[in-house]
Amino acid sequence: MSDLSSLVQALPKAELHLHVEGGSMYPDLALELAERNGMTLPFHDADSAKDYYAFTSLDQFISILRTTVATLNTAVDYHDAIVRIGKQQAGANVSYQELFFTPGLRPSVPLEAIVEGLASGREEARSQYGVETRFIADIDRTLPTADGVAMVEAVHAVRDQAAIIGIGLDCQENGFPPSRHAPAFERAAELGFHRTAHAGEDGPPSYVWEALKLCQVERIDHGVRSIEDPELVRYLAQKQVPLTVCPISNVLLCVFPDMASHSVKQLMDAGCVVTFNSDDPPMFDCDIRDEFRDVSDTFQLTAEEVIRVARAGWESSFLEPEEKARYLTAFDLVAKS
Ligand SMILES: [Zn+2]
Repeated sequence: MSDLSSLVQALPKAELHLHVEGGSMYPDLALELAERNGMTLPFHDADSAKDYYAFTSLDQFISILRTTVATLNTAVDYHDAIVRIGKQQAGANVSYQELFFTPGLRPSVPLEAIVEGLASGREEARSQYGVETRFIADIDRTLPTADGVAMVEAVHAVRDQAAIIGIGLDCQENGFPPSRHAPAFERAAELGFHRTAHAGEDGPPSYVWEALKLCQVERIDHGVRSIEDPELVRYLAQKQVPLTVCPISNVLLCVFPDMASHSVKQLMDAGCVVTFNSDDPPMFDCDIRDEFRDVSDTFQLTAEEVIRVARAGWESSFLEPEEKARYLTAFDLVAKS
């Protein structure tokens, strides 16, 4: 595995599934933002944070997330979150990322402030760490249909300020099928946004079908429960719909009891386009390299398979064709060396 570890480190990577809010809540940054905003968190240093972050259920995970994410209140807070994510990504040799942000998670923060922070943080992540960033605005799927449409319109008005290239769908999945937000995705398509949706994480395969057929998404975030529907797996493989899979997140949130039970290798073997991603790294104490390591260790991936998955990250990105070709050329140079 040490050879595969060096290969994973050496390959320039694209990450397509990482959330600004949960993905930036490293305990030291959360504490800094809390102090700045006059708030108190249930932990005070790295050790007590470790105990606090040790969730044992999805409910507890969401509660930790809501508590820490409440420290994001101003443009400067969002700026610092993006810069911190950039720093972490540079260490893992991720040179391009498409980050989700979910305005519905922080309804008290004006969208203009969020976007201002994303824009300046993006510039600094590039200049300081060499990490290029685009953003995808996620609809909180638990909100009413009209709120989803309103978010798309609001984001459209500010999209150019912070390279917001897509619309997505996240938050608690079960009970909130993608069809609930089909009108928002229809509007997103009219406005020329890329489209993706969290589906088939802990929700059923029918939610993946809805995302594909009713929301016309180009990618599926997670999609790991697609394995329960052979016709869906065939469709995903035939249409080459990318799946942004987050294996460690899925195991820690009990979508699968352990990595050996995860569907990722079956999906790869069925010809689906699979990418590895880290979802909310501080919550799972992982980065994209750990995803490659854990899946490779469990399923004995070959170097060719590792390269195929890492290359799929670039191919599945929403980069413009010329940019994508440029990044892929750089990737292939390393992959072949
Ligand atoms: Zn996610």
